Amino acid sequence: MLTAAELEQRLLQFTRERLASREVAPTITVETRLFEDRVIDSLKVLELIAFVQSTLRRKIPDAQIVLANFRSIATIARVFTNGDVAIRRVRSRRALRHSNGNASAVPELLARRELDLTPAGELVMRGHCAALCNYFDTTVRGWALELGAYEETFPNEIPVATLERAGFMSAFPQKLVPIGATAARPPAVCYHHYPTFSETTLSDRGSIVTAVGRCYRNEFDANSAHPTERLAAFTMREIIAVGNDRLIERLRSGLMERVSGWMNELGLDGFIETATDPFFTNETRGRVLMQQLLPLKYELRLRVDSAGRSIAAASFNNHEQHFGRAFSIRLASGDYAHTGCVAFGWERWVIAFVNQHGPDENRWPQIVRSRDVALAV
Ligand SMILES: [Zn+2]
Repeated sequence: MLTAAELEQRLLQFTRERLASREVAPTITVETRLFEDRVIDSLKVLELIAFVQSTLRRKIPDAQIVLANFRSIATIARVFTNGDVAIRRVRSRRALRHSNGNASAVPELLARRELDLTPAGELVMRGHCAALCNYFDTTVRGWALELGAYEETFPNEIPVATLERAGFMSAFPQKLVPIGATAARPPAVCYHHYPTFSETTLSDRGSIVTAVGRCYRNEFDANSAHPTERLAAFTMREIIAVGNDRLIERLRSGLMERVSGWMNELGLDGFIETATDPFFTNETRGRVLMQQLLPLKYELRLRVDSAGRSIAAASFNNHEQHFGRAFSIRLASGDYAHTGCVAFGWERWVIAFVNQHGPDENRWPQIVRSRDVALAV
C-alpha cells in the first residue's frame, strides 16, 4: 500500500514532466492549485486521472472526481490514500433559506391587473410589480457600472447568421422565434455583443458591457400549470465580459457572491447550483470531468412555492473560448479571447418574489418598499 508521501512525490514528478507547460513546471509544488490556476486542462485531466488510477491500481469512480478531492497534489495524495473522499452532490446548494409557506400570489395579482398575461405569452407589469422589476434591474445595472461596464443598447432582432455562428442554431433550433428567413428575435442579450468584436484584437484589459433587452424563446405554453413562469418574451439584464480567463472568473465569482448577499437582503429563498453548459453538445469525457471539477455554468434557482419548487432566475456562465473562436476575437497575446456572461430574467424574479413575500406590498422587505416601489403608485 502506497503512503500519502510516496503518492505525492510520484504525482509531483508526473505533473512537472508530463502535465504542466515548460514555463510553469519548475514552479509547481504539492500545494499548487491544479485546476483553479489552470495548470491542467480538459485533455490533461484524463492523463492525471489515469496516472492516479494506475499508481493506486484501482479505478476512481466519476462521482469522486470533484474539486474537493483534486484541488492540489497534496490533496489527491491525502484523500486517495486515506479513503477520505468527497462524493459529488447533484446540487451544490448555497444560501438556502427557510420556506415561509406562502401560496402563489400570481392569481391575485392577475385579478388586480398588477400582472397581465397576454395570449401570446408576455407578462405585463404595473404598479408595485413594475416598480419591483425596475428596482431589480436598477440594482444590477448599478453593480455593472461599478465594475467598470459600459452600457449598450441592442435592436429587437438579430441576424440568423449571427446565431448560427454563435452555435445557438445547432444547440436550440426549436427555441428560435424567426422574423422572415434571415432574422430572428434575440434569444439572449449577449449574442448581440460578440459580433461587435469579431475579427479584432482586444487589449489585455478586456471589456465589460451591460445591457437590458427583450428576449424571445419559442417555449410558451398557455395550458401549462404555471404559464407565467415560462414566457414567450421576457426582460433580460446581462453583464458580459470579453478578455482573459482570469477576468471572466473574477467577474463571475464576484457576482455570485453579490447575488447571494442580495438574496439575504431581499429575504429570498433560493440556491445556486451547477448546470451543464448547453454549448458543448459534443462533450468529450475530459470536458465532462473538467465541468465536474470547475463548472462552466451556475444557475440561481428561486423558490416559487412552499413545496420547494424553484425556477431558474439567473445564470453565471463561463464560455471559455467558445465565442472567442466563433467570432474570431483575439487578445494581444494572440490567444482567442475568453468570454463570460451573467444573465438575470426579471419576470421570474418578480414571480418568485411575490410568491415568497405575498401580493401585499406592505409586507415586502423594507429594502424594496423604501425605494422606487414606494414612489411608483
Ligand atoms: Zn449571455
